[in-house]
Amino acid sequence: MIGFREMTNEEIKTGIRKLVASEHENLVSFLRYLIEVENRELFLEEGASSIQDFCERLLGLCHGTALKRIWVARAASRFPLILDFLAESKLQLTAVSLLVRHLTEENHRDLLTTAVGKTEPELKWWLSELFPEKLPPDWKLDGQEKIIPLDGKTAKFVLVVDEEFVKQLKRAKEIHKHEFPDGNSLAILKKALNHDLHDHDPRQKAKRARKPQCRDKKETPSRRIPRGIEYAARERAGHQCAYVSPNGVRCTERAGVELDHRVSWAVGGSSKDLRNIQLLCFAHNRWKGRLEFGKDYRRANPWRLQ
Ligand SMILES: [Zn+2]
Repeated sequence: MIGFREMTNEEIKTGIRKLVASEHENLVSFLRYLIEVENRELFLEEGASSIQDFCERLLGLCHGTALKRIWVARAASRFPLILDFLAESKLQLTAVSLLVRHLTEENHRDLLTTAVGKTEPELKWWLSELFPEKLPPDWKLDGQEKIIPLDGKTAKFVLVVDEEFVKQLKRAKEIHKHEFPDGNSLAILKKALNHDLHDHDPRQKAKRARKPQCRDKKETPSRRIPRGIEYAARERAGHQCAYVSPNGVRCTERAGVELDHRVSWAVGGSSKDLRNIQLLCFAHNRWKGRLEFGKDYRRANPWRLQ
């Protein structure tokens, strides 16, 4: 341990500067590694369904930091000049993350140079003047929406909508006036979402499905997975991607999970044997396909069931 009490003021000041400089170097190295992890899709093997999942769950970065680093790393693989600006601490990560969506082959050098020395509010103001058609970047942190928690049970939901949405909401209010005389937008949107989930949510569909009836009928082999098997496979996996990395890290993706034949149907895997059916997220399902049939098929296949 460093004995801070014994250090001189000069040593403290020099020490803290050195640490900041090494932080910049580390950041640039981190971004270079991140580019490779994404390009080689190494996060899949580690049990993450996306580069963002990898950064947050496996590297322990918070949501905002992970997003900024991913955006900047992607931009830096197109415009390596970004890494120079960061290494020389001419620009900070946040500043670059505000710029990335506006950078093009033609303007990136000018934009990066002009941004040097600007504070975050100055930068946002400057960008909103320069690109008035685009919203301030911090409104788009979660893609198109922003959820601000209010009291633990409710939240303010800010969503950028288009003209069509406004018309659709207005029409829905007219149609449901008998049910919601005050035209409550939240109630109407929830009703629409409930309908959609009823029709398209595999969890709800599976719950409605009947258990399988084990009558042996003469049937031709089919790729289609019976509802009962689907229900059981989803329940068994807890409605979560079943991929487990060689280190034992389970993928936590629950959105867009799909049923998969462990031994592919094309090579004789059964649709009616529960042991052969597993739940995978889109990223892992696609990757498995590539390992089996695509250009990566020679790579060691770390596949195994949970
Ligand atoms: Zn997955």
